[in-house]
Amino acid sequence: MRTIGVLGGMSWESTQSYYQALNEGVNEALGGFHSASLIMESVDFAEIEALQRAGDWHTAGEYLIQAAKRLERAGAGCLVLATNTMHKVAPAIEAAIDIPLLHIADATAEQCLKDGIKRVGLLGTRFTMEQDFYKARLKERYGIDVVIPTDDERESVHRIIFEELCRGEIKEESRKRYLDIIEGLQAEGAEAVILGCTEIALLVEQSHTRVALFDTTALHAAKAVAWSLEGAAKP
Ligand code: GLU
Repeated sequence: MRTIGVLGGMSWESTQSYYQALNEGVNEALGGFHSASLIMESVDFAEIEALQRAGDWHTAGEYLIQAAKRLERAGAGCLVLATNTMHKVAPAIEAAIDIPLLHIADATAEQCLKDGIKRVGLLGTRFTMEQDFYKARLKERYGIDVVIPTDDERESVHRIIFEELCRGEIKEESRKRYLDIIEGLQAEGAEAVILGCTEIALLVEQSHTRVALFDTTALHAAKAVAWSLEGAAKP
């Protein structure tokens, strides 16, 4: 088994989901007492969030590069950046390290293609929904069209992520708002919806809706498990 490097804390609420999914994934494959071999670097999200709000992606990137280098020096064989939003600076991180970065949008797009999805709705922070670093990767590398919510809906989705989900608050009214927005995306022609923020699955699960959901946290963790076990002897 190869050692996974997790760069988390963005927010720690969703890093817990990664930790669980990585261990469950390895245990499902290997059984017994097997669990994931991983190293985690968990940042102070207040610092990253302030830089996001200020639009200072360069400094945020430098911060994450230092953390990624520490993971590499500690023996991680790959990097799992446990947030969709900070994949905005993934190219800078990739350029600074010698281990592969397992891109969250690739993990998601690969599953979309497997399921024959060519037009998908995207929920996430405003940065992820509105900027190009995520949507363009889906379109250019995988030919997947992306539909995003209206401006008013994006405001709600973003606010609920930062004011509630990243603080561990799960509210029924917010779940209802998300489910309405998900249905709106379907009405716009989305065949499925990407939960493109690693906290959203804490609020909305597949059992809440008939619209197919792609949980980026679960898909990203599954990609890391597959990477870790590549070439490993099966029990
Ligand atoms: N975890 C979130 C994401 O997947 C949002 C937190 C952040 O801004 O990094 O985008």
